[in-house]
Order: sequence, then structure tokens, then C-alpha cells
Amino acid sequence: MKKQPQRMCVSCKTRRDKKDLVRVVLADDGRLVVDPTGKLPGRGAYLCRDEKCITIELKAHRISKGLKENISNDEINTVVNGIINSESET
Ligand SMILES: [Zn+2]
Repeated sequence: MKKQPQRMCVSCKTRRDKKDLVRVVLADDGRLVVDPTGKLPGRGAYLCRDEKCITIELKAHRISKGLKENISNDEINTVVNGIINSESET
């Protein structure tokens, strides 16, 4: 049986297959971007593809502590929408 790479959601601490999580990365210009390929450089954190997980985590600023930046509500909304939209495409 082939072993899938696993990552832990930083919000709910659930371990899942990497493909079931979404990576959020702090870009060089300080913006928070969704990284569907998992290949962007920079500090990243994994989250479930779940609006609740993402919103709770970003609003609690735990992810921003990890990323060492403050994240505005606008950025949170952009990230959440990006993740939800990318999910609906598949
Ligand atoms: Zn989660």
C-alpha cells in the first residue's frame, strides 16, 4: 500500500493526506496567498479545505504568529474565497 504524505492542519490539529489540505503561504511582499501546488517558497501553514477551519485559524492569528505577520480581515476573506473557489473547480 502506497503511503500518502500527511500534514497536520494548524487549526484543528487533524492529520490528513496532504492533498486534502491547502497550503497558505506568506509571500515575499507580505501578502498571504493560497498555494494549491504546495510549491511556493516562503513560510507556509496547512489548513483543511474547510471555511470554518481557515476562518477560525486566521482570525485567531495563530497562523500569523507562525508567519510572523499580522493579517487583515480583507486578507482573510481573500484567502478563504480563494480556497473555496479552488475547491469548486475540481
Ligand atoms: Zn482543520
